[in-house]
Amino acid sequence: MSGHLAVVGLGPGDRRYLTRQAEETLGGAEALYGYAPYLERVAVRIGQSRHPSNNREEGMRAAAALGHAAQGARVALVSGGDPGVFAMAAAVCEAVASGPENWRALDITIVPGITAMLAAAARIGAPLGHDFCALSLSDNLKPWDLIERRLDAAASAGFVIALYNPVSRARPWQLGAAIARVRRHLAATTPVIFGRAVGRPDEEVEVTPLHVADATKADMATLVIIGSPETRVIERRGLPPLVYTPRTSARVSA
Ligand code: SAH
Repeated sequence: MSGHLAVVGLGPGDRRYLTRQAEETLGGAEALYGYAPYLERVAVRIGQSRHPSNNREEGMRAAAALGHAAQGARVALVSGGDPGVFAMAAAVCEAVASGPENWRALDITIVPGITAMLAAAARIGAPLGHDFCALSLSDNLKPWDLIERRLDAAASAGFVIALYNPVSRARPWQLGAAIARVRRHLAATTPVIFGRAVGRPDEEVEVTPLHVADATKADMATLVIIGSPETRVIERRGLPPLVYTPRTSARVSA
């Protein structure tokens, strides 16, 4: 089968974060699929068809892109950040697993991108310098009690925790509940980073101690990083603080 589907990560926003592989793949595509605001970031090229969709229909979007590729076209499906992190690459795999047999014969490429937690971390120092994990706070696709169990496990095991999808219009209370949950395990002084719209003109990155961390500071474009007991803040005069998690655990070095 001659069809090709590339699932392309666009990075967090700034064009400088787009990899050369992503740029080449987008340039060579005959059809572009993706959530409308992401698709808007891709330069318009003559002869390329564009198929924007709304956010709620990931499975349908994956199926539409696969169906188009199965007709022999070169199709690119775009995601913000990295397509494998809470995004379209898994949706494509799920669609292939349950879809028609001929989708399994398609040439499928996943083009990685800089995910939000790496872009946010880089703005403030090295909070992911030692063991960390990433959780989506969206309980659209999993039950809230599972999220709470994972927060308990991660915080009590000493992981730095990156929180994707902290809030949305339909999910206003989840971040507040998650912050309350990790307070059971972590010191009041644990640094919490709010990285908003990283790599975009309205970027804001803030660090605050856990006991005053305010969930209302986050919106849908915010990535939250909750430090571990090892995470430290270096205050600097006239410069933003540096937040880091040392590469040697205190217990190992003691
Ligand atoms: N595939 C994406 C994540 C999709 S989930 C990636 O790899 O980055 C969507 C969530 O990602 C948002 O709710 C937010 O938590 C985070 N996010 C995406 N872009 C961001 C940005 N530019 N700045 C901060 N957080 C971002």
